[in-house]
Amino acid sequence: MSKQQRMQGQPMIILGEDSQRMKDKDAQSHNISAARAVAESVRSTLGPKGMDKMLVSSMGDVTVTNDGVTILQEMDIDNPTASMIVEVAETQEDEAGDGTTTAVAVAGELLKNAEDLLEQDIHPTAIIKGFHQASEKAREEIDDIAVEVDPEDIDLLRKVAETSMTGKGAELNKELLSQLIVDAVEAVTVEAEDGSTVVDLEYVNVETQTGRSAGESELLHGAVIDKDPVQDSMPTDLEDANVLLVDEPIEIEETDVDAELQLDSPDQLQAFLDSEEEELREKVDAIAASGADVVFCQKGIDDMAQHFLAKEGILAARRVKKSDIKFLREVTGANIVSDLEAVTSADLGTATISRDDADELFYVEGTGDAHGVTLLLRGSTEHVVDELERGVGDALDVVGSTVSDGRVLAGGGAVEVELASRLREYADSVEGREQLAVEAFADSLELIPRVLAENSGLDAIDTLVDLRSAHADGDQYAGLNVFTGETVDTYDAGVVEPAHAKEQALSSATEAANLVLKIDDIIAAGDLSTEGEEEEGGPGGGMGGMGGGMGGMGGMGGMM
Ligand code: ADP
Ligand code: MG
Repeated sequence: MSKQQRMQGQPMIILGEDSQRMKDKDAQSHNISAARAVAESVRSTLGPKGMDKMLVSSMGDVTVTNDGVTILQEMDIDNPTASMIVEVAETQEDEAGDGTTTAVAVAGELLKNAEDLLEQDIHPTAIIKGFHQASEKAREEIDDIAVEVDPEDIDLLRKVAETSMTGKGAELNKELLSQLIVDAVEAVTVEAEDGSTVVDLEYVNVETQTGRSAGESELLHGAVIDKDPVQDSMPTDLEDANVLLVDEPIEIEETDVDAELQLDSPDQLQAFLDSEEEELREKVDAIAASGADVVFCQKGIDDMAQHFLAKEGILAARRVKKSDIKFLREVTGANIVSDLEAVTSADLGTATISRDDADELFYVEGTGDAHGVTLLLRGSTEHVVDELERGVGDALDVVGSTVSDGRVLAGGGAVEVELASRLREYADSVEGREQLAVEAFADSLELIPRVLAENSGLDAIDTLVDLRSAHADGDQYAGLNVFTGETVDTYDAGVVEPAHAKEQALSSATEAANLVLKIDDIIAAGDLSTEGEEEEGGPGGGMGGMGGGMGGMGGMGGMM
């Protein structure tokens, strides 16, 4: 210790004993490898011929999926840089609903190409700036390439839904499902006062049921409630019924959990029981007086109250999910009542109720102005319906975004190759080293057709050469037919994607890549690697840990 340090009574070491630090090139290559490993782990799922992954959680739960964001969320990633890439997928899922694999794969490729530039001693800030410029330019060009569509063009919307579902579990029934999806979106599309089209997917409820085939999925105008009536003697089919929604228990209100009852005689017990009965009686009377024919209660219903309700001829279901109660509000137009003493007929909504005894489901079809539809997805097992639900969820989002945004692009790599060629042209006008970054961005976009080809067992280079020459000849919709390997006009072939999702995918991929590139110093409290036993020493040790973590995934990829 130096004299000065002793004088201050403090050592100059500012980091804890276990902390690790990595700087400059080491930090960059550490981060880039982690991010690329994540991107590579989802690549094999891209496109119609992409494979699925089986993910087994630490609890032993199994998920079989092709959905990029689901894979990454289930993968239990605890490397901080890798987590930043997972966020790209999550942002994409929130903003666009589809295109998560694309966003992550492009982010990984941007970083791979950035690494080459770093090796040529190009400063990260020049790369970041170039990527940013290229991304802005790509957005402009997407707007130019996009085809304006009529939001009422059902055929086109079905194609958008089908493109989104290809390669997913939902694909096997894509004709039926795409029709249901388009119908669902149309049912919740309204024209706003300013003349714009608004799609409110909040009004589309997706329910799943196992035991029947996916081909028996259906769209219901209203809600589907998976509950039994509390008493068998209650009516189950009611036309134009008055519906009451309650989120308080129809039970005795217990003032104090630990309240003790002091009883000195049997009379007192009887009096007490009578008063309880009286309280329940009053609640049921209030319900009956409001004119309700049906009660959906979010909480419990006391046995005695059930009996009174049945005697009044009122249908009741208890412990209905909160989300279902909320959706029933949209379907029936009822208020959600929290205080039965104050209930009036104005709180009621209307609906026609019917019961499917085989399925043990109530169908609640709204009869008033309120709207809301339920897409009831069926499948043989839980795994099947779960993957169906993810595929259909994505397709609902992209059809919704096509209706509200009205712009689509040709898929199968067509838009990426066109953008790459336009960006290379643009690069000529960019000064300085940023020009190289713009070119690297263009190269990165071509990853999509290359991976689509690879995943289909085709030669990636041949495919890219063919596509580039078609685009050079002015065929801006030339993309890959993954089934034949031929270059086709994918727009005509019906492989169409919403422009909004692609814009979002490119901008979130760019932002993530730039975020990673900006880091030149990693200071970790504790070991940089979080699992596995690693080799001794500094950055190498950290990377070893990373390799170990990712190795697990690689192994999983290999299994499939
Ligand atoms: P993401 O998570 O990015 O949506 P997907 O696995 O859904 O990943 O694959 C999307 C890609 O597959 C898009 O580039 C799309 O154009 C392409 N694609 C979808 N259907 C076809 C098809 N029939 N032929 C060629 N490419 C297709
Ligand atoms: Mg998709």
